[in-house]
Amino acid sequence: MQALQLEKPHHFLFIEVPEPEAPGPGEAVVAVRAVGICGTDYGGYLGKMPFFSYPRIPGHELGVEVMAVGPGVTNVAPGDRCCVEPYINCQQCHSCKRGLTNCCEHHQTLGVHCDGGLRPRFTVPARKLHRSPKLAHEQNALVETLAIGCHAIDRGAPTSAETVLVIGAGPIGLSAVEFAKLSGARVIVIDRVAARLAFVRERMGIADTLLATGGASDLDALRELTDGRFCEVVVDATGSNASMGGALASCAFGGRLVFVGITQAEVSFPHAPVMHRRELSILASRNALSRDFRRIITLIEEGRIDTAPWITHRIPFADTIATFPTLLEPVSGVIKAVVEMPE
Ligand SMILES: [Zn+2]
Ligand SMILES: [Zn+2]
Repeated sequence: MQALQLEKPHHFLFIEVPEPEAPGPGEAVVAVRAVGICGTDYGGYLGKMPFFSYPRIPGHELGVEVMAVGPGVTNVAPGDRCCVEPYINCQQCHSCKRGLTNCCEHHQTLGVHCDGGLRPRFTVPARKLHRSPKLAHEQNALVETLAIGCHAIDRGAPTSAETVLVIGAGPIGLSAVEFAKLSGARVIVIDRVAARLAFVRERMGIADTLLATGGASDLDALRELTDGRFCEVVVDATGSNASMGGALASCAFGGRLVFVGITQAEVSFPHAPVMHRRELSILASRNALSRDFRRIITLIEEGRIDTAPWITHRIPFADTIATFPTLLEPVSGVIKAVVEMPE
């Protein structure tokens, strides 16, 4: 069968891979039905993703169907539709033993550190499968993206009396917006691209958006919008070290700043006049927990998260090499592209 491999930056090719063997204890063989493409994949393609190694079969946002299960597997059965929690943790390290499976000391993400789902069938640990009889394959492929925002908002833990500012309205920022809304907090979204803010207003029902200019006027506008209080929770989803350092200034006194984007550059910020004076907390947010996947499945099943606005592009597997570079162009207007695997 044919898998799609990113041999090196800017170079995809179809390779022949063997069929998976019969699943061993605790394993499942799955047929991949839908694969979401995200910033990590674009970064891997461009050679800008620090954790990405080559050659690699990408694909970590997966809607799958279980084909066979190995001995001892009870959580899924053949025929089940599932999403995949693509964070492979060792279950042995201090972090895993504390339940922090999202930041295992030996963490591997499928499709990033090891081969992922851009292939018709492969083997996964069954404990990483979360079944939903109701969700469509492409909805299952969206669960991981939403999990990133879910965990980021859980880190910031807004109450319904607070205001959440989401900086950056790409897919990660948008996934944070979904859970900020569910918290009952007031939500404000800031981005440099007017079209993205229009999407946030028209498709996600967020009234308060700010078009960023990168200057001091951004902070003035936020001050005005919040009666001078700024925001109790700020989620930076830009991956820009300048934005991340500057984000402290948008925090209210006693506020929490969550970094859900990542940067390889150093982040700097004023300590005494801002961080200390306002007694701010800075929180990292990495991946997500198993319970986040189950929660999101339920939220989609109950109609509390509408996935319809999310998926803007559907690509047949065979067309992926030709189509992938076009998704990088801003004119594509892509929110989430999903590769549809042949049945
Ligand atoms: Zn992703
Ligand atoms: Zn571990």
